[in-house]
Amino acid sequence: MYHARESRDDYDSGSLTLESRVLPSSKISLTRRHFLSQLGFYGLASSIPVGGLLSAHGKSSLASAQTTHETQSAVRNRAPLASNAFYFLPLGSIRPGGWLKSQLQIQASGLSGHLDETWADVGPDSGWLGGGGESWERGPYFLDGLVPLAWLLDDARLKAKAQRFIDWTLDHQTASGMIGPLSNDDWWPRIVMLKVLTQYQELTGDPRVIPAMNKYFQYQLAELPRRPLRDWGRFRWQDELLSVIWLYNRTGQAWLLDLARLLHKQGYNWIAQYADFQFTQRITAEYLKLNEGNGLKDLSLATHGVNNGQAIKTGPVWSLVSGVEADRSSVLKMISVLDKYHGLPNGMFSCDEHLAGPDPSQGSELCSVVEYMFSLEHSLAILGDASLGDRLERLAFNALPGTFTDDMWAHQYNQEPNQVECSLHHKPWVSDGPESNLFGLEPNFGCCTANYHQGWPKFAACLFLLSGAQEATAHDGLVAAVYAPCELRTVMRGTHLHVVEETGYPFHGSVRIVVNPALPLSFPLQLRIPAWAVGTIITVNGQPQPVPEAGSFARIERLWTSGDRVEINFPMSPYLSHWSNNSVAVERGPLVFSYGIGESWVKLRDRGMTADWQVFPTTAWNYALQIDSDAPEKSIAVTETEVGEAPFSTRHNPVRLSVRARKLNDWRAEDGVANPPPQSPVTSDQPEETITLIPYAAAKLRITAFPQCRNLVG
Ligand SMILES: [Zn+2]
Repeated sequence: MYHARESRDDYDSGSLTLESRVLPSSKISLTRRHFLSQLGFYGLASSIPVGGLLSAHGKSSLASAQTTHETQSAVRNRAPLASNAFYFLPLGSIRPGGWLKSQLQIQASGLSGHLDETWADVGPDSGWLGGGGESWERGPYFLDGLVPLAWLLDDARLKAKAQRFIDWTLDHQTASGMIGPLSNDDWWPRIVMLKVLTQYQELTGDPRVIPAMNKYFQYQLAELPRRPLRDWGRFRWQDELLSVIWLYNRTGQAWLLDLARLLHKQGYNWIAQYADFQFTQRITAEYLKLNEGNGLKDLSLATHGVNNGQAIKTGPVWSLVSGVEADRSSVLKMISVLDKYHGLPNGMFSCDEHLAGPDPSQGSELCSVVEYMFSLEHSLAILGDASLGDRLERLAFNALPGTFTDDMWAHQYNQEPNQVECSLHHKPWVSDGPESNLFGLEPNFGCCTANYHQGWPKFAACLFLLSGAQEATAHDGLVAAVYAPCELRTVMRGTHLHVVEETGYPFHGSVRIVVNPALPLSFPLQLRIPAWAVGTIITVNGQPQPVPEAGSFARIERLWTSGDRVEINFPMSPYLSHWSNNSVAVERGPLVFSYGIGESWVKLRDRGMTADWQVFPTTAWNYALQIDSDAPEKSIAVTETEVGEAPFSTRHNPVRLSVRARKLNDWRAEDGVANPPPQSPVTSDQPEETITLIPYAAAKLRITAFPQCRNLVG
């Protein structure tokens, strides 16, 4: 069977000497599991027997469920909800193409397509299949990505895997309305399963979904006053609000808005946290009193990375109910605050496990990457603010692929922008264990193993959004919200519309969109112009179009006929961004570039169909860049080649940059962790060298935030 072990045999050299660096297991103390137990709510994450198997007699709905997305139109917000700027097209309307389709196929051929075969927590004994195994968040997490992955690829094998969980969930709803394993009544894992059900319904039209959600929400509305949200559910209530609004828009039952208000009332006030932000420093275990009994549970949850990633959508989603403009725009304040105090060059905020400051050797958890992306997708649709699309691309094209092996059989829990070693050495994390930046099956803790699957498929599903007024389809238009190769089939103003987007973006700057309505059709097409894209050129059938300021949307309204060709040329000059200690990162378009350190992959242990890996550096990495800040494009040479099927892989980079650099002998690593970049500007007496930078995601050992040499600092 194909798996990571075979595909990475060539990394094994040197393992005999390097494996001696492995710490004894007794030193692996302060893990995520330990952190949860310190807070007194680990119990739900463990396996809880339910007293025998429930028979899975549910009859599959595959045969009866029709594929509906091509004829459905988007569902808009129903009064009295506020309007979105843009709406999601029914899931399945957009299919990945080109490199993005290859990337989803890599994911499906990797651990995502086999996780249930090799990891018991989502295997045949899962509580979400009626078994006695893991019965909390891991089944729903897995489904939240497996469902869109399976249907976007139209992969029968993956659909069948997902269908078993869906059928068990729908067929075992209790008379009261509760869903999920009876071994626990925690609201949180149900919040995730509701997200799964909404996606599944859009993909299949399965008639069981809406009645089941209706019954569950009725039950919860009655139950919440005496059994309120707590712990994770209290801090992640906004994710349930999305599903409540989804159902309200389809059924219009006013009591669902009562439930929305009750969730808001019981849920944590994220908007207030960011209006007067107190967590401006690296959060320490001492600050959270993690070593004193149960610790400060609320403080821990309020500074928890994944919670904050999920929280970013709170203002926009709640604003649909509250109607308050300040709620709607609070997302921009949240992002700027996180950037200011905890921002990293890969687009993330640091969180390992808690907010961790701006040092580029701090980590970001994979769950927080995919949750931040999901928050941005909804925030972008609600606000229609182009900067949210810029950030979404920055995460999708850098932080997301940067934390997986090329074959997506192994991932990290924490990734670092300056990541000079992935090993069991002492680590700089706030509270995570020493396995956190290993590549493996479930380094540190298995939440990311279950949760990462949603990243790519949900990104693919929001490449195009729908614009238009709340009630009428007569004003519908199309929005290219983020860019990647894809194909779209939908009904626009009553006419079938087929759109093809071909591009090597984000590696290349040209995007071609061919518009094919079944009959000539007038509608506006909006195109996001990223903030970095000053000087963008747009043509329609070769005719130049007016282009607005970067950081907004171009709008082309015309009578479209089949074969009309929109071509966008984004300027792709390299530029610098500034980070901790006045360090610099080199960027080009939405890609961040890194110096790829030589890598030696050393297998720590086999893990069923995959394995856990340490990665040790084989080359120096302590470079300062010698780039003219005033005209960086003049000192950076760009080499573009074709975009292959695995564009984020180590082995073929569609774009490479050559820059001048000098070694800094005083910049060192301690215990496998790079010290903070020395305050720039710096001086070096070492000879000038030319080094190659590659996309962040391709370099699994990397320097991304560099000091700058004094002689050329502007
Ligand atoms: Zn995680």
